[in-house]
Amino acid sequence: MQPSGLAVLARLGLDKPIRESGARIDRLRCVTTTGGSVFTLDYRDLAVGLHGVGLHRGVLFSTLFDAARASGMTLVTGVTIASLVNHGRGKVLVGDDGKRYGPHDLVIMAAGSRNAVADDEAPVRRPIPYPWGALWFVAKTARVEPELFQVLRGTRRMFGLLPVASDLVTVFWSVPVATHEQARATMRADIANHYPAAASLMSSDTPVLFATYTDVRMPRWDVGCVLYLGDCGHGMSPQLGQGANLALIDAYTLGEVLRTQPDLPSALAAYSRRRRLALHYYQLVTRWLTPFFQSDATFLGPLRDAMMGPLTRIPPLRWLMLQSMAGFHGREARSRLG
Ligand SMILES: Cc1cc2nc3c(=O)[nH]c(=O)nc-3n(C[C@H](O)[C@H](O)[C@H](O)COP(=O)(O)OP(=O)(O)OC[C@H]3O[C@@H](n4cnc5c(N)ncnc54)[C@H](O)[C@@H]3O)c2cc1C
Repeated sequence: MQPSGLAVLARLGLDKPIRESGARIDRLRCVTTTGGSVFTLDYRDLAVGLHGVGLHRGVLFSTLFDAARASGMTLVTGVTIASLVNHGRGKVLVGDDGKRYGPHDLVIMAAGSRNAVADDEAPVRRPIPYPWGALWFVAKTARVEPELFQVLRGTRRMFGLLPVASDLVTVFWSVPVATHEQARATMRADIANHYPAAASLMSSDTPVLFATYTDVRMPRWDVGCVLYLGDCGHGMSPQLGQGANLALIDAYTLGEVLRTQPDLPSALAAYSRRRRLALHYYQLVTRWLTPFFQSDATFLGPLRDAMMGPLTRIPPLRWLMLQSMAGFHGREARSRLG
């Protein structure tokens, strides 16, 4: 969680359990395999006391889910929605077993970047999978540094450690999607070779998961009475660690426009207007930045190692990078959450 996502959770009164279950993150630190610094960005240079929180995604999910349940709203779970059909000015949701839910005045599409819900009126939505993903696992450790730590070699080798509790770290290892199964077989030896200090974190029976990312482009997020939120509307690579935070700000902004605008069409139009700047910015920067860390464009590795450190030391650029990392880029996030 970035400071921006934590600010939304604080407004909902939910930041305490997240802070208590997760691990404090003060900085992002990247080094090369020879130990040279590539760059360090510390939240505290932006504002005293500012920090992120590393946590398992299940903690965020259950915190939000419990709050939704406690609010008394009607929740229907365990249903896969196959399609949306028109009903007057609203929509009916149709489950994959044919069961119908609704009609509803407003449908929030938050089905993730691989959304497969059919809707005749759906806007052009272009999901583009990234060719690189990550193998990852959670390891127990005696000592946790309050930082997201990455060890880089060129653009084809990236190892990362993210604390997710006082005694747990998530370990991730960048791999091409096409060869991830082969990479899984040699992962332990490859990590030990790349960053020997991490060898003890993995044993031969450690369960390893594989994550892929998809870039999702949409010209706008509101279409009739349907609103596309989170990864469904603007999926991106996790290079900047913003996806869940942006999804929380989406939801918060929707709540605000529904409260303050006179009717639903004005509220949805206001939502798209308010989110445009920040979402386009983060999508653009993530698309631009990801190949410097995960790609076959090997010439970008030396460029990154030579340039990023000096760039982070130029005050206005450092400020921009810190603000972007904290999730506060964009007038909307700064004025309402900062
Ligand atoms: C390796 C990795 C690391 C990441 N690290 C970070 C990070 O450090 N910080 C950060 O902010 N973000 C990070 N992200 C991104 C973050 O996980 C996503 O941005 C976030 O989960 C998006 O939330 P969402 O609710 O929009 O979509 P999702 O989390 O994908 O949730 C979509 C939900 O919709 C359900 N669903 C889908 N289709 C249907 C259907 N037809 N009917 C009913 N239900 C359906 C799915 O089961 C799922 O529960 C990372 C992502 C990856 C892959």
